[in-house]
Amino acid sequence: MSSQSCILLHLMEVEIAGVEVRVSGIDGKGVFGLVPFRRGQRVGDMWGEVISTTEGMRRAKLRKRIAIVEIDEALAVDARRSASPFRYINHSCQPNSYMRIGNGWIRFYARRNIHSGEELTCDYGETQHEGKLPCLCGAPNCRRFL
Ligand SMILES: [Zn+2]
Repeated sequence: MSSQSCILLHLMEVEIAGVEVRVSGIDGKGVFGLVPFRRGQRVGDMWGEVISTTEGMRRAKLRKRIAIVEIDEALAVDARRSASPFRYINHSCQPNSYMRIGNGWIRFYARRNIHSGEELTCDYGETQHEGKLPCLCGAPNCRRFL
């Protein structure tokens, strides 16, 4: 088995709990907590097809909605067809969650205490949109573009 398929299997064992996907006030669909989360608590994981970063950049150019995360210099995960609810996590310039990448995991943690029913958001940081996509997060400190 290649190391890539190992990562994939490893990520598919993750339990999906505590969140649901529904229509977002920010953009399209979003991820919402069904339970309260404490600051620092893991809220969930994202997984998907393991591809090269080159292939990730190629795909990103072809699509308006991108669910591709680079996990290191060589590999990226495309979550577009994944069952992970976190492929729908919206960006906010004042997010309540953050993403951590390491050892093949893409994990999300609460930045502060989060109430049940709140939409979970993270700061995408630098994106494949290259600062051309208008941001709709509505935060007072919104950077306006992604
Ligand atoms: Zn914003």
